[in-house]
Amino acid sequence: MSTNEQYQYEVGPIRPPSEGYSLLLRLVRGCAWNKCKFCGFYRKEKFGVRSVEHVQRDIDAIRSWIDVFQGKTYKIPVGDEEREAYYVAANWFQSGMESVFLQDANALLMKPEQIIEVLRYLHQVFPGIKRITAYARSDTIARIDDHHLWEFAHMGLNRLHVGMETGCDELLKLVNKGVDKATQIKAGKKAMAAGIEVSEFYMPGLGGREYARQSALDTADVINQINPDFVRIRSMALSKKLDLYADYQAGIFTRTNDIDDVREIRTFIEHLHGITSVVESDHILNILLELRGKLPEDKDRLLRTIDDFLSLPEDQQMVFRLGRRLGVMGSLSDLGSELRVTRVKEVMSTYRVDHTNIDAVSNDLMINAVPIQGDED
Ligand code: SF4
Repeated sequence: MSTNEQYQYEVGPIRPPSEGYSLLLRLVRGCAWNKCKFCGFYRKEKFGVRSVEHVQRDIDAIRSWIDVFQGKTYKIPVGDEEREAYYVAANWFQSGMESVFLQDANALLMKPEQIIEVLRYLHQVFPGIKRITAYARSDTIARIDDHHLWEFAHMGLNRLHVGMETGCDELLKLVNKGVDKATQIKAGKKAMAAGIEVSEFYMPGLGGREYARQSALDTADVINQINPDFVRIRSMALSKKLDLYADYQAGIFTRTNDIDDVREIRTFIEHLHGITSVVESDHILNILLELRGKLPEDKDRLLRTIDDFLSLPEDQQMVFRLGRRLGVMGSLSDLGSELRVTRVKEVMSTYRVDHTNIDAVSNDLMINAVPIQGDED
């Protein structure tokens, strides 16, 4: 933190898919670790912790626009900064102003006392807030004193999104995650014990065909030991600009396709036992968005959905894969829509997509779906 830093309203680049309706409040800039080979989100961002005063001024800026929307006062946005705060506030106002997401990659790197100060101020200015969430790395959570985690929970920090990616130690090392399986389990259990909801992200496809099965098994083992509130599937998109791409070029990993990834997810779900987590597949990169359900009661349905996809004839699998990547299809039932199927087949014919190039086309469309991941590397 630099106390001499000039104040400006700030908002970070990303949030989890489930935080689309949340107020984005930046406590830290970028990622202090910034070395995961599969991630380029913050490569150009210098890490820094913002001052409590500046975060409070952001909160005040949002409050002043909310007052305008509620008809208590009147003003118009002047300059880029004001306009940014205006749009963030407008989005939040329209969404009901109930949830807040603390940015960027690991907001818990702010000092615990300062986080508590921010949480207190947030509730003071917006008493109607029901949910406050943040991304957090497992090694950070594991280091924080239990009493501080309890205080965070008490002050309304209800959920932590943890990018676990995989529970496989060998793969974690290869992709330079900087965390091992034991720390992931410790961190997840600590946060849960403090009364904070835990949402763990799993990244099928991360270790290529070589690690698919082991990653699924070890990740299921981590999840079974934590029993987090949520497990979120987030498939990997391999951009040439990612450090991981060189490992693929060197033959350390063989790129998986959508079908390999769905098989990996099947192994993962099959090995989830004795837990009550909600499985979510809410990321645009996932091929099967309907893989959503509560364990244990929905496990068989989730596996059936996977088997429905895997048992499709190859040409239908291809239509669905392309349909999903183009945004023409959202779920397997869309294969019953003549209109959508025709649209996808037109694209296949125009751009000559067939079984020889569908993997490459699908990968390119995935990268385009998350341009920030490749672009800012
Ligand atoms: S995956 Fe998370 S911890 Fe790793 S570099 Fe990206 S933001 Fe940082």
